[in-house]
Amino acid sequence: MYRSHTCGELRESDINTKVTLSGWVQKTRDKGFVVWVDLRDRYGITQLVFDEDRTSSKLLEQARSLGREYVVQVTGEVIERTSKNPNIPTGGIEVLVDEVILLNKSKTPPFTIENETDGGEDLRMKYRYLDIRRNPVKNNLIFRSKVSMEVRKYLSDHSFVEVETPYLIKSTPEGARDFVVPSRMNEGQFYALPQSPQTFKQLLMVGGMDKYFQIVKCFRDEDLRADRQPEFTQIDCEMAFVEQEDILDTFEGLTKHLLKEIKGVEISAFPRITYDDAMRIYGNDKPDIRFGMEFGELNAVTQHKDFGVFNSAELVVGIAVPGGASYTRKELDALVNWVKRPQVGAKGMVYVKYNEDGSFKSTVDKFYDQEDLAKWAKITEAKPGDLICVLSGDANKTRTQLSALRMELAERLGLRNPNEFAPLWVIDFPLLELDEETGNYHAMHHPFTSPKPGQLELLETDPGAVRANAYDLVLNGNEIGGGSIRIHDRDVQSTMFKHLGFTPEEAQAQFGFLMDAFQYGAPPHGGIAFGLDRLVSILGGQETIRDFIAFPKNNSGRDVMIDAPAAIDQEQLHELKLKLDIEA
Ligand code: ASP
Repeated sequence: MYRSHTCGELRESDINTKVTLSGWVQKTRDKGFVVWVDLRDRYGITQLVFDEDRTSSKLLEQARSLGREYVVQVTGEVIERTSKNPNIPTGGIEVLVDEVILLNKSKTPPFTIENETDGGEDLRMKYRYLDIRRNPVKNNLIFRSKVSMEVRKYLSDHSFVEVETPYLIKSTPEGARDFVVPSRMNEGQFYALPQSPQTFKQLLMVGGMDKYFQIVKCFRDEDLRADRQPEFTQIDCEMAFVEQEDILDTFEGLTKHLLKEIKGVEISAFPRITYDDAMRIYGNDKPDIRFGMEFGELNAVTQHKDFGVFNSAELVVGIAVPGGASYTRKELDALVNWVKRPQVGAKGMVYVKYNEDGSFKSTVDKFYDQEDLAKWAKITEAKPGDLICVLSGDANKTRTQLSALRMELAERLGLRNPNEFAPLWVIDFPLLELDEETGNYHAMHHPFTSPKPGQLELLETDPGAVRANAYDLVLNGNEIGGGSIRIHDRDVQSTMFKHLGFTPEEAQAQFGFLMDAFQYGAPPHGGIAFGLDRLVSILGGQETIRDFIAFPKNNSGRDVMIDAPAAIDQEQLHELKLKLDIEA
C-alpha cells in the first residue's frame, strides 16, 4: 500500500496514528540536528520530521539526500508540531518518519513548483506536467472538472441524453477553415474534423432523441488571435419541439445553476436586448453590462454648427467617463492617441470636460457653446466631474471604436470586477451578414438557422434586413453561448443555400444528407452551444482560457511540449499517397 492518507488530510485528531504517505518533496530544511521535509501531493503538504534524538543516523542521512521533486513513500507517526502553521490545514501536526522508500528521483525542475513560480510562459508550456503540479494550474483543472460535472448534472436532471458524435466527418460550416485528415483507405480523400457537431445534433433530432447534449472537442483552423485555441470544448445542446423561448429558458436555467453551485451567486431573470439595440447602445454584440457608459447619439445636437468633421459624419456618438473631468492634459492626449492606434483606428477624438461647477470645457469650444455642450451631457448622461468622449464617422466603424474605448476605460477604472456576474441574452440577430470585400452575404450564425416567421420572402428583396431566431448568451462582455432555431424543412433549407450562393448541385453534394433527412419527418428543433473553456475561465475570475486547459497550444497553435505539429516521414506520405506542394 503506497499510502494510508493523502498529504492534505492529517489533523491533530490523528496524533499518535501510524501513517504511510506518498508524494513529492517540495523542500527540505536542514538545521543539522533536525531535518524537515515538506511532502506534497494533489491534496496538500504534510511536514515530515527527522531528528538526531529520535531518528537513526542512516535515516537522517537519507532525508538529507532527498532532492526537490523526488518521489518518496514514508511511514511514521503523526505527532503534534511544536510551532504550528495556521496557514495550512495540516499545520498542527507533523510526521515523525521511521522509514523512507525512494520511489523515483527527479532532475532539478527547470522552474520552482510554487504558487508564484520563476518560470516563464514558454518554459512552463514545455514542461506542462510540472506546471500542473503547481496549485494555480492544478486548481484550475479541478475547477473545470467541477463545472463539467455540474453541467452534466443539470442537463441529465432535465432529461438530456449525452451522445457522442464522430470526429472524422466532412466539412461543417461554422465559418472557419477545417482541419483535414487524409484517408489511407480512400486514396485522395480527406475527412474534416468537426468545427462543431451541428449537423449531427440536428440528425439526432430527426432520430427522435429530443434532448441531446455533449461536452465535445471542436476544431477550427483560424488565424490565431490571442487566447484562441485551434481545438476547444463546447457544451453542445439541441432540443426538439421547442421555440426560442423554451431554449432561452432551459439554458438560462443551466447558467443560473452554474452561478449558484460554483460561485454561490443568485441572479434573477437575465435581461434581453436585441442585436440592433446592443449595437446602438454599446457598439458591440456582446456588451459588458457590469457598468453603464452607454452610448449617446449626438448627430441632432452637433450637426447644426460649422464643425465639418461632425457634419460630414454618418454618426456622432459619445460616452460619459465617470470622474474623467480631472484627467490631466497629458492623460487626455494619451487617450486621444489610444483611440488613434491602428488597432482602434479612430481619426481623432473630441472631448468635453464637465466641470464640478457645472461649466463645460471642450476641444471644440470654437464651434459649440455651453448650451450645446449641456445637451451632449444630457444625452450621454454625464454628471459634473465626468468627461464626455465623442467619436464620429462611418456608423459601424465608429461604434466599434467607441466600444473599444468604453471597454478600455472601464478596465482602467476598475469597473470590470471579475467577482460580479452580469449575464444577458442578445436576441434577434440578423440572418445574413454582408461580406464587404466580396459583396456576398453569408450566414451570420450558420446556414441552418431559420429566419423569423414570415421573413422568408424578405430574403429576395432585402436580405440584410432578415432577422433570425438566433441568440447569444453573453457574460461579462464575452459570448459564452450561441444558438438558433433551425430550419427543418427541406425546401426552406434549399432556398437558404441558394441565397448563400450555393448551386443546387453544390448544396446537394455538401449537405444532401441533411436535406434528405428533413424529408423523413424532421421535427421543429433548435439548440445552443457554450464555449466551455471561456465559461470556466470567466467563472474562475480569470481572463485566459489557456490557464484552464491541461495541455493547451501556444499562440502559434503549437504544442511545444510534444512538438506538434511536425513533419511526417516519406513512407507515411507515400502510404497516404500524398505529395507535399512546398519547396524543399
Ligand atoms: N453549432 C453552433 C456553434 O458552434 C452552435 C449552435 O447553433 O447550436 O456556434
